[in-house]
Amino acid sequence: MIYDEPLFRPPSEARSLIIQATLGCSHNECLFCGMYKMKKFRPRPFEDFKADALECAQKLPGATKIFLADGDALVLSTRRLIEILNLLYSNFPNLERVTSYANPSNLLNKTDSELRELRAAGLDILYFGVESGNDYLLKKISKGATRGEILEAGKKALNAGFPLSVTVLLGLGGVKMSREHAIDTASLCSEMNPTYLSALTLMLGPFEGYFKKAMGEGFEFLDKVQTLRELRMLVENLETDDCVFRTNHASNYLPLKGVLKHDRDRLTEMIDTALKNPEVYLRPEFLRAL
Ligand code: SF4
Repeated sequence: MIYDEPLFRPPSEARSLIIQATLGCSHNECLFCGMYKMKKFRPRPFEDFKADALECAQKLPGATKIFLADGDALVLSTRRLIEILNLLYSNFPNLERVTSYANPSNLLNKTDSELRELRAAGLDILYFGVESGNDYLLKKISKGATRGEILEAGKKALNAGFPLSVTVLLGLGGVKMSREHAIDTASLCSEMNPTYLSALTLMLGPFEGYFKKAMGEGFEFLDKVQTLRELRMLVENLETDDCVFRTNHASNYLPLKGVLKHDRDRLTEMIDTALKNPEVYLRPEFLRAL
């Protein structure tokens, strides 16, 4: 099997077998995301997917987890996805879960019963980029969905029985909108109440200049201490049930993990300790993304 690179997967799929069901991202317009900019989106022909899956089943018959790449395999028709799930579960005897990225329009374009059908066929965790709960910022970054649409899409997945793993992006609002971004993101995520919630930190590399220009006059990037203060505001304002909160992505300055309902005080104390001595506790710039 030869991958059409580049290839991306969520950190928690590091030990999963990855098979490409689609190439690129059907949206591909988010301002901060360069993951698939060099790829033209297309679904892979089923026969190509099947050839890869059968080859993997011979070489790795014990695989327990499969991640369907690329950027939003959930864009495929329900019929095609069921075909894919049936193929995988019948050829990998130990398979426990099949997961994929999903974007708001993928979820909104499926009916409730289609989503339940997919869940029953063995589609498991959906990785869902929320980025921000602030409508102005969502528009600025060309997320392709409003806060209301993102909330509806997330709820729809949860109501259909999917474990939902949400990511939000610290730093999107820059210095001026840090507070609004944190508060609105916390309120959206509280209302959605996902299964997992991860905060990542904006990292743009060579695209910093382009992003800054597109965000408009006066946009200033957060430094690491400002990013940590934004993280604190987010943590302080989240009201979720059993949601597992994490900042273990390589883009972050301070790795945290906890169930907010039980661990909020411990997490805010860790942030406060780091804020008092950032040079000791925060990941240095050169180690981010490694
Ligand atoms: S939907 Fe996801 S993969 Fe596609 S451009 Fe936006 S962030 Fe990138």
